[in-house]
Amino acid sequence: MTITRFAPSPTGFLHVGNLRTALMNYLIARKAGGTFILRIDDTDPERSKQEYVDAIQHDLEWLGLTWDRMERQSERLDRYAAAADALRDKARFYEAFETPVELDLKRKKQLNMGKPPVYDRAALTLSDDEKDALRAERGNGVWRFQLDHARIEWTDGILGDISIDAASVSDPVLIRGDGQVLYTLASVVDDTEMGVTHVVRGSDHVTNTATQIQIIEALGGSITTFAHHSLLTGPQGESLSKRLGSLSLRDFREQGVEPMALLSLLARLGSSDPVELRGSLEELAEHFEPARFGSAPTKFDQADLFPLTARVLHERPFEDVSGEIAGLGVPDDIAPKFWEVMRANVTTMADLAPWWEICRDGAEPIIAEEDAEFVREAMALLPDAPFDAETWSAWTSAVKDATGRKGKGLFMPLRLAVTGQARGPDMGSLMPLLHVVRAKG
Ligand code: GLU
Repeated sequence: MTITRFAPSPTGFLHVGNLRTALMNYLIARKAGGTFILRIDDTDPERSKQEYVDAIQHDLEWLGLTWDRMERQSERLDRYAAAADALRDKARFYEAFETPVELDLKRKKQLNMGKPPVYDRAALTLSDDEKDALRAERGNGVWRFQLDHARIEWTDGILGDISIDAASVSDPVLIRGDGQVLYTLASVVDDTEMGVTHVVRGSDHVTNTATQIQIIEALGGSITTFAHHSLLTGPQGESLSKRLGSLSLRDFREQGVEPMALLSLLARLGSSDPVELRGSLEELAEHFEPARFGSAPTKFDQADLFPLTARVLHERPFEDVSGEIAGLGVPDDIAPKFWEVMRANVTTMADLAPWWEICRDGAEPIIAEEDAEFVREAMALLPDAPFDAETWSAWTSAVKDATGRKGKGLFMPLRLAVTGQARGPDMGSLMPLLHVVRAKG
C-alpha cells in the first residue's frame, strides 16, 4: 500500500514550490491507488496560524488535490515525547547547553582552522553535576540526537545513489530548551507511525534525510523511499527563495490561472517529458513518472501559466461557465453564443467582462486621424443593430466597393472603430453580439 504525505508548516501561504512537493506526493499516491495524507507541521506554536491551515486547505481544494486523511502535529505531542524517551533509553539523546553565541563562536573557530562547522559534542563529556549547574544557570538544554559516525546511504527516487558521511553533519537538535519538538523528530515519528512509504520533498532536505534515516533506525522503524526534487528558480536561474511570497497559489487564483494549467505545468517542469496540458488529475497521475525528473534547478516562469490557462478555456464547454457568464449579466439567449465567440480570445475568465461591456454598450471607438473620413463613410453604410452573421461581410464589401480600400487597410480601421481594440474575436462572429456601435454616432 502506497502512502504519501504533504507536510506544510502553516506559517504562510502555499507557493509554487510547495505545490510542486504536494503534487508529486499526491500523484504518486493516486497513481498507485494509495493514500495521500495532508499533515500540518504545526509544532511551532508561535509561527503556526489557523488562518494558514485554512488557506492551505482552500488552495488544495481549489486545485482538486484532495487528501484522504489530515493530521496535525500539535495533536501528537505525546507520541513525540514517547519517541524522545525511547531515544534516551537507547543512549542516543543528550542534553546540550551551549548558547547560540557560543555555537556561533565554535563554528567560526572551526572554519578558521579549515574544518567543517560540525558540533563538537562537548556536551557529551559533561558530568551530571555540571549539567545540573548549567541547567540552574541557563534553564533546560536542547536535546541532540547522537549520530552514528558511519556513512548514511540511500537510493533516492530522483537523485540516485546518495552517500553522506554522518561525521560531516552536526548531531541534530530535536527538542528545544523550551520543550518544543522540532520538525526532524516529529516528522520521523509521523512517517513511521503513519506507515508513509514514499517521501518526496525539496533537495534542501537531503541532509535532514540523512539524519532522519538514523533516527528511524534508532526507533526501530522501517525506512521509506525518499526522493528529493530540485528547487525552482526564476526564469533567469535566479533564486526564488525571496520571491516565493509573491508566487503564492492564492495570487495565481486571483490572477485567473486555471488549476489544470498550473497542475499540468508543475507535473512536468524539470522532467525530461514535455509539458502537456491534461484534462484531469487522473490523467496527470496516469502519466506521472518521478524518476524522469532531473536534479538540476528547475526554471519556473509565471508567464507560462497564461497560455496554458488560455488553452484550458478554449476547450471549456459552455455548461462549465454558464454560471459565470450569467453573473456578468449576459442574457440567457445569447450566452452560449457569447462564450463560443469569446473563448478562443480570452487568456483568463477576467477578460470576459470588458468584452461583454463592449457588446452591451458599444466600445469607445479608436479612429486614427488619417482614417477619419474613411470611417465616417463606412459608418454611413453600416445598417442599424441588430446585426447578424452576414453583417460584417456584406458591410465590408460595400465599404470596399465605395472606397477602394482592401485588406488590412480596410479591416483594421473598422475593427478599431467598432470594438476599440486592435485584437479580438473574428468580426463576422462578433457583430451579431454587438448591441450598439458608438462610432455610428
Ligand atoms: N514541514 C516541512 C517543510 O515544510 C516538511 C518537510 C518534509 O516533507 O518532510 O519543509
